[in-house]
This record gives sequence, structure tokens and C-alpha cells, in this order.
Amino acid sequence: MVKVTIDRPGCISCESCWDLCPEVFEQDPADDLSSITKKYRVNDDPGQGEVPDELIDCAIEAADSCPVTVIIVEE
Ligand code: SF4
Repeated sequence: MVKVTIDRPGCISCESCWDLCPEVFEQDPADDLSSITKKYRVNDDPGQGEVPDELIDCAIEAADSCPVTVIIVEE
């Protein structure tokens, strides 16, 4: 498992992360910002997640694509 965090206030809703890795990222309909999918969310916090090893590459690809670098994947 790896920790994935989103500094949500900095998200500009560019759609890249949930396009590339919808297993881990989704758009929150309440504020339009990127969120961790409920399945992988920690403490019911949309900005914190723990994802299984098979989704690490996908999460990293999404993080690398973020134009405002608000996604952190802790390997
Ligand atoms: S890639 Fe970054 S800016 Fe774009 S929606 Fe995801 S978190 Fe927001």
C-alpha cells in the first residue's frame, strides 16, 4: 500500500488525474475538486488515501500529470 494525498484547495479541476486513474481519483460533485475514491479514502478525508500496489503506477502517472502538483504519492 502507498499513501496518496491531494492538497485539494490547490486543485484546479483540470480533469487529468481522474481521466488517467479513475480507480483512485474522482471529481467531488460538492466542490468539483479532485478526491480520493471512497474505496481508498482514509478517515473519510477526500484528500487522503491508501492505495494497493497494483495502482501505484496509475497514481504516479496522475500525480506527474497534475499541472499544479498537488498530488503526492509516498512510495
Ligand atoms: S490533476 Fe491536479 S489539478 Fe487536475 S484535477 Fe487532478 S488534482 Fe486537480
